Amino acid sequence: MEALQRVTSMKIKEFGEYGGVNPSIEVSTTFTVLDPATLDELFLGHTGPQHGCFLYGRSFNPTVRALGRHLAAMEGTEAAYACSSGMAAISSTLMALCNSGDHIVCSSTVYGGTFSLLKSFLPIKCNISTTFVNVNDVDAVTAAINDKTKVIYAEAQSNPTLVASDLPSLAKIAREKGLKLVVDNTFTPYVVSPVKHGADIVVHSMTKFMSGASDIIAGVVCGPARFIDDLMNLHTAGPFMLLGPTMDPKVASELLLRLPHLPVRMQEHSRRALYFAQGLEALGAKVVYPGLPSHPGHKTMASITNNGFGFGGVLGIEFESAELADVFMQRLQNKHGFGYIAVSLGYFDTLMCISASSTSSELSADQRAAAGIPSGYLRMSVGITGVVEQRWEQLRESYEFVKRVGTSSQYKAVKVKRHGEDHTAAPILWWHSEGPLSEKAEDDEEVEFCKLPAKRPRAV
Ligand SMILES: *Cc1c(COP(=O)(O)O)cnc(C)c1O
Repeated sequence: MEALQRVTSMKIKEFGEYGGVNPSIEVSTTFTVLDPATLDELFLGHTGPQHGCFLYGRSFNPTVRALGRHLAAMEGTEAAYACSSGMAAISSTLMALCNSGDHIVCSSTVYGGTFSLLKSFLPIKCNISTTFVNVNDVDAVTAAINDKTKVIYAEAQSNPTLVASDLPSLAKIAREKGLKLVVDNTFTPYVVSPVKHGADIVVHSMTKFMSGASDIIAGVVCGPARFIDDLMNLHTAGPFMLLGPTMDPKVASELLLRLPHLPVRMQEHSRRALYFAQGLEALGAKVVYPGLPSHPGHKTMASITNNGFGFGGVLGIEFESAELADVFMQRLQNKHGFGYIAVSLGYFDTLMCISASSTSSELSADQRAAAGIPSGYLRMSVGITGVVEQRWEQLRESYEFVKRVGTSSQYKAVKVKRHGEDHTAAPILWWHSEGPLSEKAEDDEEVEFCKLPAKRPRAV
């Protein structure tokens, strides 16, 4: 609970300009000074926000700084600063740590965007190369390090296979070799505190659990104060200042109001994910969830999690084929309203996608096999809405439906249309049905039997 205690400390609480319980939004992009000489000092970097002096909105902004203080307290770093996206946080961090000719050792199971950044963008545009390894294989990590290596990069819980990184071992190697350990903690805010296990810099996509509503794209870099200041430094090629992935202060204010309930949300995401994972496993499903003793990373994950926050809100289910996984998702969404077929995670409702054809499609079939992502792998970000027992019934029914009927062409698609005021019928949902329809429609609804479309039917 150390992270919780740090964020509720009065030292980081910021009040609004008129004593409001929430910090004010500083909308200005430029700031005045009483003495013209102060502007010179600001440009030279001799004074700055640490003395209450601000310069220009692409540099430090008071509201974004207040958000940064909260996040630094959460991760236990000296400082933090938010930016426009998770990818901005990751790319800025790596470009700040590496120069042309340098080298990175990266986990082979990372977010698809990160993989492409390291695989394509950095080598082509910046001459920064990467070796991808299984970061839990100490020998492989050590063997991949050369005299140009500057960074070891891993996700606290890897996407989408949910393998925990053995952070203490990685930190030990990084210290011995003089490298920086950078950890992406997007999947596990509060669940894991990477700095406690030796990480130097922690990055997040705040688009996910931190936002919690799939309405904001944002990111953050947490690390030593000097490192964060340098990201904004004109004179030392700071990527925040010069590439400009600036966070809007209005967005910073939005996020600041959501962070206080992030720990409660994480606890509930984790509680439900474990409940569903256990239930599905008992039904015979191949469930991938680090909270289950059957998960290969269970012990490692248990050794790095903070007490009371569970094992995170994401689980995986391995179906024999992508088609079966499709039928399962459709049933859950279009019949039960259990969740949505969509990429991303951390939303208050459940989100589901087939990793191989979506978020990990940047990987080739061989790379996916190496990363342990079968084509029927469904990733589910477990939501926190609704009554958990009812949600479980929906999940159980859909799983048993898939087991019973498979993808056989025996069953039909059912289209339910609702009559509008003008008596035209508009389709409202589709689902698969076994043979003759047994489901009853509401009075104002019209049910139509049709052949299963070749293309996936969609919720409308
Ligand atoms: C989504 C995600 C990112 C990228 O974040 P954006 O905010 O979309 O730029 C990076 N890492 C992980 C683990 C993610 O899930």
